[in-house]
Amino acid sequence: MTQTLLLLPGDGIGPEVIAQARRVAEQVAPDITLTEGLVGGAAIDAGGTPLSNETLEKARTSDAVLLGAVGGPKWANVERIHRPEMGLLNLRKELDVFANLRPAYCFEALVDASSLKRDRVEGLDLMIVRELTSGVYFGEPRGVDTDENGIRRGYDTSIYTAPEIERVTRIAFEIARGRDGRICSVDKSNVMESGHFWRTEVTALHEAGGSGVELTHMLADACAMELVRNPKQFDVILADNLFGDLLSDEAAMLTGSIGMLPSASLGGEGVAGLFEPVHGSAPDIAGKGLANPCAAILSLEMALRWSLGRPDAADRVMAAVSKALKEGARTSDLGGSMSTQEMADAIIAGL
Ligand code: NAD
Repeated sequence: MTQTLLLLPGDGIGPEVIAQARRVAEQVAPDITLTEGLVGGAAIDAGGTPLSNETLEKARTSDAVLLGAVGGPKWANVERIHRPEMGLLNLRKELDVFANLRPAYCFEALVDASSLKRDRVEGLDLMIVRELTSGVYFGEPRGVDTDENGIRRGYDTSIYTAPEIERVTRIAFEIARGRDGRICSVDKSNVMESGHFWRTEVTALHEAGGSGVELTHMLADACAMELVRNPKQFDVILADNLFGDLLSDEAAMLTGSIGMLPSASLGGEGVAGLFEPVHGSAPDIAGKGLANPCAAILSLEMALRWSLGRPDAADRVMAAVSKALKEGARTSDLGGSMSTQEMADAIIAGL
C-alpha cells in the first residue's frame, strides 16, 4: 500500500524549510505520496482556526506528519485559544503523540560551532524523551481571575496520572535499550507533589520492567547545570512536558544551532508520528532565505526511520547532511553564508 507523508509547512520559515525537506523526500523515497495542509497562522488566515477538521483528518489518515513551525507577531495579540500555537498543541493532543524524542548529537564538522568547548561536546549523542500531552501545559484548572479577596491571579496545574507516566517511561526504556542503556529521569521531586509522584512511578516501573536499563534520577535544575558542565554523561534523559521543553532547548545550544535539531513525537500503535524541527517560525529571518533547513531535513530523516519504516533512506539522508557539513556547507546560523536552498542543494548533491 502507498505510504503518505503529510507536510504542514505552517508559518514564518516553516514553508521555506519544509520546501527543502520535500525535495529531499522526493529524492530518497519517490514512492511515498506527499500531501500538504495548513496549520497555525496560515490556517487561521485561510479559515479562522489554527487546526481545521480537514487538516486533522489528513493527519489521522497519513503514515507520518512533517510540520515546519507555527506562530509569529501577526497573531500575537489574538486570544490564546485562537493562537497559531494552539494548532500545534491540539494536533499533538488529537494524534495523542505523547512521547517527544529530541536527539542532541554533535556533527563532527560542527564541534567548534557549539557554545561549549570542543572536549565537552565532541562525540555528544544524547536523547531527550519528553512527555508531550499532559503536565502543566494541559492541566486544569488554569486561568486568570480574581480571588475572593479581590486579588487578580494567574495559575496552571501540574498534573500527571500513573498511565501517562507509564507509557512515556516504557518508550524511554525501549529507546535506552537500543542505545547505551542509561536513563536519567528528571523532576522537581523536592518541591512538587507531581514531581515526587513522577519519581515514585518511574522507579516502580523500572523495578517491574526495566531490565537492561540503568535508571538514575536528577533534579531538573541540577540537570540544567550538568547539561552545560558535562553533557556527555547523559544517554537518555526522561522528563515531563515542562522540564523536557526547557532542557531540550538548552541541549540545542550544545550542538551548534537550533537550526540543526529535529524532533519526533510518537504515539501508540497505528498513530501517525509527528516530526518537526525544534525551532519556531523565526520571524526575524522569515522570507529572507536564511533559515537552516537541516532541522527540517533531519526531521524527515526521523520520519523515514521511525514511522515510515525506511531506515536505508534515513541513513542516506543522515550521511548526506554529515557530508555536506564536512565539506563546509553552512547557513549563517552556523557561521556561513549559504541560503536555505543552497544548503539543501549541498545535501541533495551528497545523497
Ligand atoms: P525561534 O526558534 O523561532 O527563533 C529563535 C532564534 O533562532 C531566532 O533568532 C531565529 O532566527 C533562530 N532560528 C530558529 N530557527 C532557525 C533556523 N532554522 N535557521 C537559522 N536560525 C534559526 O523561537 P522564537 O523567536 O522564540 O519564536 C518565534 C515564533 O515561533 C513564536 O511565535 C513562537 O511561539 C513560535 N514557536 C513555534 C514553535 C513550533 O512551531 N514548534 C516552537 C517555538 C516557537
